[in-house]
Amino acid sequence: MPRQFFVGGNFKMNGTAQSISQIISNLNSAKLDESTEVVISPPSIFLVLARQLANGKIAVSAQNVFDKPNGAFTGELSVDQLKDAKIDWTLAGHSERRVILKEDDEFVARKTKAAIDGGLSVILCIGESLEEREAGKTIDVVTRQLNAVKDKLSPAEWSKVVIAYEPIWAIGTGKVATTEQAQEVHASIRKWLREKISPEAAENVRVIYGGSVSEKNCQELAKQPDVDGFLVGGASLKPAFVDIINARL
Ligand code: PEP
Repeated sequence: MPRQFFVGGNFKMNGTAQSISQIISNLNSAKLDESTEVVISPPSIFLVLARQLANGKIAVSAQNVFDKPNGAFTGELSVDQLKDAKIDWTLAGHSERRVILKEDDEFVARKTKAAIDGGLSVILCIGESLEEREAGKTIDVVTRQLNAVKDKLSPAEWSKVVIAYEPIWAIGTGKVATTEQAQEVHASIRKWLREKISPEAAENVRVIYGGSVSEKNCQELAKQPDVDGFLVGGASLKPAFVDIINARL
């Protein structure tokens, strides 16, 4: 079975009830590639609205989740609360949280484990900074980020993970990785999956690319053998998101 193409839309801290309703209404009425899994990730205050409005073919993801089950954790959301709200996915380890909110590899790994234990699927974001890339450390960095998660998950639990390779220097900058750069890192991630998790994980875990994906560059990226889809930020708020979902049509 080939890996199902996956396109996620990360709305980040953008939108209003009105604009998000409009985006979802456009998605509901658009002709979307039936073979692509589509997941949208609105700000937490609009998760319930998004789940109510989106049709059954569109899944909804939180942008973040906490690693503790409940209690005195002001401002956080638990896995059970997301499940109760019929949210089936969460992002973990987005670079904006790693960099701005200082989330480290261990915390991201704990959240990933808590999410999977509670029945969520996880879009696990990894990626290097420009400084790290220029120092030739890209593979070391993504491997370090993956190893932290490996320490928490059983091999079977990787079936609940989509890995989003998002070079930090490409996020929101308009500077997309070349198809060769993306394919090279994705192939390394797949090799890591084969060697450190299992041949099944290497075969089945989706590795998606994020970083200034647009309707203009998505088709070339989608042709790369180890690019199984996209995590889209800015363009997911625009009508062009439909073209990205349909990149392989
Ligand atoms: C993201 O936030 O995950 C992202 C890839 O953003 P953008 O597409 O805007 O670069």
